[in-house]
Amino acid sequence: MEKPVYLDYSATTPVHPEVMETMLPYFIEKYGNASSIHEKGKEARLAVEQARARVAELINAGVEEIIFTSGGTEADNLALMGTAAVSKDLGNHIVVTNIEHHAVFETCHHLEKNGFSVTFVPVEPNGIVDVEKIRQAITDDTILISTIFANNEIGTIQPVKEIAGIALEYGIYCHTDAVQAIGRSRIDVKELGVDMLSLTAHKFYGPKGIGALYIRQGSQIAPIIYGGGQERGIRSGTESVPLIVGFGKAAQVASRDMDAEIQRLKPLRDRLINGVMQNIEGVVLNGDTANRLPNNANFCFDGVAIEKHGPKEKPEDYFSMSWELNKHGICASAGAACTAAGVTPSHVLMALGRSVEQAQGALRFSLGKWTTDADIDKTLEELPKLVARLRAEKKAQS
Ligand SMILES: *Cc1c(COP(=O)(O)O)cnc(C)c1O
Repeated sequence: MEKPVYLDYSATTPVHPEVMETMLPYFIEKYGNASSIHEKGKEARLAVEQARARVAELINAGVEEIIFTSGGTEADNLALMGTAAVSKDLGNHIVVTNIEHHAVFETCHHLEKNGFSVTFVPVEPNGIVDVEKIRQAITDDTILISTIFANNEIGTIQPVKEIAGIALEYGIYCHTDAVQAIGRSRIDVKELGVDMLSLTAHKFYGPKGIGALYIRQGSQIAPIIYGGGQERGIRSGTESVPLIVGFGKAAQVASRDMDAEIQRLKPLRDRLINGVMQNIEGVVLNGDTANRLPNNANFCFDGVAIEKHGPKEKPEDYFSMSWELNKHGICASAGAACTAAGVTPSHVLMALGRSVEQAQGALRFSLGKWTTDADIDKTLEELPKLVARLRAEKKAQS
């Protein structure tokens, strides 16, 4: 079979060959524990600290401000729960948007069950939050504002710098989940003024299972994992030296290649957006046209969500745009997630005012380093066929 066209770089990316090459010696030859004081330990420690410096440089942080975690989910959990734990005597209220990633969303729900109250500020129809609504949500009990930097589904970029300014005014901590923006947009934590920022390697050509939380020097945070006191006591557990080395290399490659990559991706993305909007009827582009990631295009197609009957045992027994598109040789994400209970429409698309049926008919295309003109051609050729096929099937059903 022909290799599928991969347009799902926001779900994960392949590891860059330079990253892989840099990691490899740390599995077999340079296997030391970075906490050991002998030669093998020193070798590993040196590599971990070099990687930390590379990650810090990518976001203009100090090396002591980078805490390695197992990924973006843990970084978000640490930011929210670690702040909640340390600030609970000051207040029990948290402000977030209603289009946060599940790693923030579900942590908020957990905190709600444990004595905290959370305001989910609704975004505007273009997917961007009005900073005045953030300000209005603040109470005397607010300890933290957390907003996603670039949304993982619709790619919209939030006014994080303004929000951090408001947080500073009120003496509140400010966190941003910048997982999708890293490597796709220049990020400078000093200029942004945030206290905490989450990142993960596997969304920008690094390995899976490694990420970091930037914690501005002077910010107070409690650990959520206890043990040997690694990572300045904030994140215990033996450092995953190979993954950290890969993360560092990915950061270095991103610092070097990002600007050229953004310039290459934008016209590809725009050709995809324009081609879809011009050649398919009954389609909406989700999210803001200007303030969006250079690699993201997200559409809702009307009248495509067909009913599936019969036993529902596997994800493909449910209607999924991702699975239907896969039949045309293209990998992209759907706007609804299949779970054992059925199909849950995306909370992000619902927040933009889409109907459940529209959300079921959504597709997110996310481009990356190995996306070619031919990939976009193929997508523009197959997508109208897919939409026509589903609309015909739906008509036949009714
Ligand atoms: C992927 C993602 C995460 C989770 O990161 P993992 O490293 O996969 O745990 C968190 N936030 C956003 C916005 C993401 O896209």
